[in-house]
This record gives sequence, C-alpha cells and structure tokens, in this order.
Amino acid sequence: MATLVGRYIDSYCSRCRLTLAHVVLYEVNGVVSGVKCRTCGSEHRHRGPAPVKKNEIPAVRRFGGRLITAPKPVRPEANRLWELKNAATVPDVAVWDYGMTERYEQGDVIAHPSFGRGFVESTTMDKMEVLFRDGRKLLAMNRSGTALG
Ligand SMILES: [Zn+2]
Repeated sequence: MATLVGRYIDSYCSRCRLTLAHVVLYEVNGVVSGVKCRTCGSEHRHRGPAPVKKNEIPAVRRFGGRLITAPKPVRPEANRLWELKNAATVPDVAVWDYGMTERYEQGDVIAHPSFGRGFVESTTMDKMEVLFRDGRKLLAMNRSGTALG
C-alpha cells in the first residue's frame, strides 16, 4: 500500500480555520494521522477536508443549550408599508399624541410613546388599527377615563 507520508493532503487547520493543503507527517495503520499546515506551519492531527460536524451547529443553539429564536430575516410587509406612508406624508402633517380617551379618524397620523409614528388605518367605536414601523397594532381609543377596558 502506497504511503501518503510527504504528500500533500487537504486537512482542516484549526489555527487558520480553513481547509488547507497539509503535508502528511505520519500514518497510523495506513491512515493519515499527523499533518503539518503549509500555511501556518502548525502540526496537528489530520481532521479531514471539512470541519467536524459539531462546529456547524447553528448559532441559535449555542447559548447554554437553550433554543434562541433568531430574528426573522424577511422584512415584514407592514414595515414596507409604513416606510411608504411615512415618505408620502407631508413634513408639516398634524401628528396627534396618542391617548386612549381621544378619538381618531382613519387617515390620522398619531405619535405613540412606545411605538412611534403610526397611521390610523381603520376605526371602530372604541378601537383603531394603527400601522406602526414594527407592525400593525390594535389600540384603544375613545374610552372614557374611568371605564377602561
Ligand atoms: Zn494552518
């Protein structure tokens, strides 16, 4: 069986963090075991052409075994709509501070202390759907100060 000692072989270098050409230093039972990185010169065990699987665990699973939900990569449609509406709004538009005792109409522009600028899309007697930068929200309105809920 031909030996690979002295030949070049692709191996994963943990110092370079890349799969690179390595010189085979020695074999064990005909299997390449020790290699030397041609790039950084470090000598280590042969790890094969690709990183071992456990290095490929998605980042969302790395925090103490708890599953962390990654933020959605797709931009929400509501955000796109909000940007369009905001761009189409005249600079001196009347912006009403939000208060649940106030009454608003469809098309009003409001300022919410937490959600920022919002566009009133529809209203009922005591609720309104408002398009905010981070999505649509249903807000109370036209409520009396004493009978909340
Ligand atoms: Zn290296």
